[in-house]
Amino acid sequence: PRQTQIGLMSHAELVSEYETQKADYAKLKTEKLTLDLTRGKPSPEQLDLSADLLVLPGEGDYRDASGTDCRNYGGLQGLPELRAIFGELLGIPVENLFAGNNSSLEMMHDMLVFAMLYGTADSAAPWAGQQVKFLCPVPGYDRHFAITEALGVEMIPVPMEHDGPDAHAIAALVAADPAIKGLWAVPNYSNPTGVVFSEEVVRELVSMPTAAPDFRLFWDNAYAVHPLTDLAAPIVDVLGLAAAAGNPNRPFVFASTSKITYAGAGVAFFGASTANLQWYTRHVSKKSIGPDKINQLRHVRFFKDAAGVRAHMQRHRAILEPKFALVLRILEERLGPSKVASWTEPKGGYFISLDVPEGTAKRVIALAKDAGIALTPAGSTFPYGKDVEDKNIRIAPSFPPLSELEVAMNGLATCVLLAASEHLLDK
Ligand code: PMP
Repeated sequence: PRQTQIGLMSHAELVSEYETQKADYAKLKTEKLTLDLTRGKPSPEQLDLSADLLVLPGEGDYRDASGTDCRNYGGLQGLPELRAIFGELLGIPVENLFAGNNSSLEMMHDMLVFAMLYGTADSAAPWAGQQVKFLCPVPGYDRHFAITEALGVEMIPVPMEHDGPDAHAIAALVAADPAIKGLWAVPNYSNPTGVVFSEEVVRELVSMPTAAPDFRLFWDNAYAVHPLTDLAAPIVDVLGLAAAAGNPNRPFVFASTSKITYAGAGVAFFGASTANLQWYTRHVSKKSIGPDKINQLRHVRFFKDAAGVRAHMQRHRAILEPKFALVLRILEERLGPSKVASWTEPKGGYFISLDVPEGTAKRVIALAKDAGIALTPAGSTFPYGKDVEDKNIRIAPSFPPLSELEVAMNGLATCVLLAASEHLLDK
């Protein structure tokens, strides 16, 4: 490992650093890799943890505890037993929780489309036709930003701090501008920073005065029960706090089992106030006669109770923890001494957020691509794909096996070091 900080090197040292990295990179390219660090997908080994789902609920088992025949239409709100399990985990009363189909992202998209077409429970008019803006903590989740961009919502980046988005900056913005109708938020183990929102930040977000009467927190708790350490992040009762602050309709809470059972074949959840659920029911009942209750029943049989989910998440952790540890070790070994980069050390979730020197993220990602290492496109963690500082890279360690992850991360570190020395030499 090189011991000199890259920023403190003399010109001669820098030239020699550049030559070393160039040679390392040339060697990397001869390896003809095809590795992928792009999407936060569970590995096949993780999917195998839910193998029983492929045989559940099993022959002759199609009624839930209340006797509902899950093979038939109906039950728009989802099976009460499954809502009880996830209501306990998410801190949401059963009656305030919907269990839907396979994608929470689809539910988020629905909420926005419904708000656009019909307005929310607190809107004087549909959002479509008005100027609508959303606040976007950055770096954040590209698919959130894709929804708002597609629907013509203007996105305003706000900085992510160590304990959540900058709530004071947000409070000032929403107080002044009635066009700001929403905020994207991933409260536990954020994508991609791993940040867990503190209770103080949550309190500020639910209680701050907003110029828009129909302001909504799009509270995407995708990683609610996904710790990587013994100390799981608590679930802050966002609905309860919002109601206590006099803003019961502000949060729209989302979650799913995509990173618990099967990504794309799990169950998604929506939690909100009674008024919001009446509003949602009114609109969703036009697009569906009810969700896939067989899949919900299968999940009930598989987990049995909330403790079953927690135990299952520990089995995921056992697979994920060594992968995160490996990534952090390589980052420290390869990029620590030269101090060219900084990165998050998440206590849960699916991602590590890497900041390389300003103006080099695009170059790093292009270098990696040419060496056969796929990374999420530069800028994708920002609204409109625009990282003005060109420095953030999202690393998703879950999918590749450890051996591939090690090769990919060492390759990435070489690309970071080469791009940094190029940049400093103005090559
Ligand atoms: N929200 C976040 C923050 C995510 O990271 C992901 C998956 N990468 C999703 C939502 C997607 O959820 P679903 O599969 O339920 O649509």
